[in-house]
Amino acid sequence: MKNTRIYLDNNATTPCDPRVIEAMLPYFYEKPGNAASRNHPFGWEAEEAVDQARQQIARLLQADSKEIVFTSGATEADNLALKGIFELYRRKGQHIISVTTEHKAVLDTCKHLEKLGASITLLEVSTDGLIDLGQLEAAIRPDTILVSVMWANNETGVIQPMAAIGEICARHGIFFFSDATQAVGKIPCHPRENGIHLMAFSAHKMYGPKGVGALYVSNQNPRVKLAAQMDGGGHERGMRSGTLNVPGIVGFGKAAALAGEEMQEEAKRLGRLRDHFESVVRAQLEEVYINGSTRHRMPHVTNLSFRHVEGETLMMTFNQTMAVSSGSACTSASLDPSHVLVALGLSDDMAHAALRISLGRFTTAEDVERAIEAIAKGVRQLRAESPVWEMFKDGIDLESIG
Ligand SMILES: *Cc1c(COP(=O)(O)O)cnc(C)c1O
Repeated sequence: MKNTRIYLDNNATTPCDPRVIEAMLPYFYEKPGNAASRNHPFGWEAEEAVDQARQQIARLLQADSKEIVFTSGATEADNLALKGIFELYRRKGQHIISVTTEHKAVLDTCKHLEKLGASITLLEVSTDGLIDLGQLEAAIRPDTILVSVMWANNETGVIQPMAAIGEICARHGIFFFSDATQAVGKIPCHPRENGIHLMAFSAHKMYGPKGVGALYVSNQNPRVKLAAQMDGGGHERGMRSGTLNVPGIVGFGKAAALAGEEMQEEAKRLGRLRDHFESVVRAQLEEVYINGSTRHRMPHVTNLSFRHVEGETLMMTFNQTMAVSSGSACTSASLDPSHVLVALGLSDDMAHAALRISLGRFTTAEDVERAIEAIAKGVRQLRAESPVWEMFKDGIDLESIG
């Protein structure tokens, strides 16, 4: 990106790749058809473009193109999977298992289903952010219909053991849904190979446009059925009505094709930059902690806590020139510590002391050097002004005093 500002918040959203934009452009004016218009060439042209995108996405997932249901994004795909399964299978059982570190789109949908009579078990994670497979198996009941575990966490990048979870679900005859929004396009994500029956993901997290996503729905062995959450023209094999976002879907397809070609190299390059970032920051500053597993982690993400430094305040020292995320979540009136970091066992203070840095396709080595400099400068400055840090350095541990 030709921009003097540095963007290191790629887990919030990625820039749309210029090659994706180029692929989308004809579908706004020159090729305006509705993919559901079956009786003229404008419609056929749009339908062909959607078919091609569906195939490009299916190829990335090693899936069949019939297994891709387009939505407005991952939030909608999460809602469709959870509500769609619950509505159709609740006579069989009303118990759903998920995890405390899931995205709000999953957690809040589970809360909604609870009001409708669902029983929800949220598995806890260990300090590395991983679920315990024994605990998962122990949580399964005769009325369990669905297990929902995200592939990679948006805040820490921690990757759950998908194949092992899929194996447990298969053994118990339970559907396995994964919110794979942070993993698709970055690492290989093949649902069938991992025993996943439903999988949500989104274009704007993989260098495609905002406002388009998909739900993978297994079409055979087993064939999964869903109750539609949007009634209307019966698009997407009846699972999601509404005129398809043709330009968005074309861009999504192009983004998937590019990811297939480039993810391996990209992951290596970003992994090297991330590791360099972590090692230099931790060499330059004391009391910096990596949150979550460093072994089972996405290559482009790091989540660091800087003891006795408020992440939000640290961000304000470089906000004008560099974008990252903090370990605090904005709620109505106050800043709450991230539910993900708290679930890893961090104190509220250490969660508020966190920054999430997520690199992306357009991050350069120079960006990373500048980020190291800005963060080190900000941390030193805030600690120099901090009586709490001074006491800590004098051996007075406020946290143990309480
Ligand atoms: C971004 C994100 C979502 C929401 O995706 P949208 O397409 O913005 O609705 C859901 N889950 C995870 C893990 C995400 O990172």
